[in-house]
Amino acid sequence: MRICTNNSNKFVVFADNIHTYNSQMTIDIIGAGIGGLTTAIALEQKGLKTRIFEQAEEIKQVGAGIILANNAMQVYEKLGLRKEIENNGNIISSMNITKANLKPVSRVDLSYFEKKHKVKNVAIHRGVLQQILLNRLRSTEINLKHSLKHISQTDRVPLSTFENGKSIQSSVLIGADGLTSVVRQCLFSGNELRNANQICWRGVVNFDLLSEYKNELNEAWGRGGRFGLVQIDKDKVYWYALKSFKKHKNEYAVSDIDSYFRDYHAVIRDIIAATPKQQVHTAVISDLKPTSTWYKDNVCLIGDAAHATTPNMGQGACQAIEDAYVLSEYLKKYDTHAAFEKFQSLRLPKAHLVVKTSWRIGKMAHLSSPLLISIRNLMMSITPSSISRKQPEQIFQLPGL
Ligand SMILES: Cc1cc2nc3c(=O)[nH]c(=O)nc-3n(C[C@H](O)[C@H](O)[C@H](O)COP(=O)(O)OP(=O)(O)OC[C@H]3O[C@@H](n4cnc5c(N)ncnc54)[C@H](O)[C@@H]3O)c2cc1C
Repeated sequence: MRICTNNSNKFVVFADNIHTYNSQMTIDIIGAGIGGLTTAIALEQKGLKTRIFEQAEEIKQVGAGIILANNAMQVYEKLGLRKEIENNGNIISSMNITKANLKPVSRVDLSYFEKKHKVKNVAIHRGVLQQILLNRLRSTEINLKHSLKHISQTDRVPLSTFENGKSIQSSVLIGADGLTSVVRQCLFSGNELRNANQICWRGVVNFDLLSEYKNELNEAWGRGGRFGLVQIDKDKVYWYALKSFKKHKNEYAVSDIDSYFRDYHAVIRDIIAATPKQQVHTAVISDLKPTSTWYKDNVCLIGDAAHATTPNMGQGACQAIEDAYVLSEYLKKYDTHAAFEKFQSLRLPKAHLVVKTSWRIGKMAHLSSPLLISIRNLMMSITPSSISRKQPEQIFQLPGL
């Protein structure tokens, strides 16, 4: 792996401030998030040359965890990364929705899917995952401090201009630049971000979790909010907490987070109390209203840039990872246009299913009427496991290519 900053001109020929590259086969990726890095690994392993352009000065993730569900882990198994991820994370064998007091409402037994797909679901620190992905890159050139400002196309060739004044022409360009993708905004219509009116706090804390919770994801649904907790390492717990806020107004402050969850189980209150507030990451939740076009000429969007979802199914990164797998297979087998066309027609229905279902779950999880909450909980608790298994069954299935 070669990391170039904007002061480097390695492997680059300068011509009127446009860098032209010696190989027509290079695939350029904007964004070094989970989607961009996984795509680069998959393409490299197929013998395709890639370069990444990333806005950040260093590749660093927020201090939070992530759950890599069965579909993502099947991709990482194919890429030879499963073991390393499992060894550095924590296996999750059940996903539970509970009441605020951690009394179970519904449970999805993941051991069924572990047996079926021969991989496990893993909770891991985002920074650890990012480092594993970075370490696996061999020949990809990573250009940090390259914040994309604009893209234009002349004769179907994308010309990307960065804030640092540099420009590149690409034979193939993948936009993996996340929810607010500049690639998408410049070349595609359908850029409607939807504010879910939910604020989300995330934290990682050293915490000795009771053994009964160690291999589970528990998400406690209260009134107009919820709290999720999962072990990600021997002594580390990742938690996330959400609350609804009124339109265009976020009335919640992280300094008061203890009081928002004071009616929740003692374990939850202890986890919040043990986390230094300055280490809590705060974000307002939004997604991208489903769009019908992910590619144009030699440019294709993947991950959040193409189909950002609310986090209610824990599938955003997993879908980006599936994109990486499918797109790299197709780019190896077909010419660029055919690869993008096949990629979109295979991936779009599933990604949109996730976006739409996740949006609905977000609304359902944040009901505030006690009556509606009781009805919802009753319905969920009497749903047979064969039914509640149906949705993960569909989501965890990787397409055969
Ligand atoms: C609270 C929360 C919890 C979540 N939990 C989970 C979970 O448990 N499991 C799961 O699968 N998903 C989860 N997700 C979703 C997941 O984080 C995203 O779907 C995933 O990170 C998308 O990856 P990506 O590579 O497409 O985009 P990103 O991770 O957003 O990466 C985009 C990259 O592009 C770079 N970039 C952006 N703009 C530019 C530019 N102009 N020029 C150059 N570079 C640029 C960024 O710096 C970044 O490195 C969660 C999301 C949230 C908000």
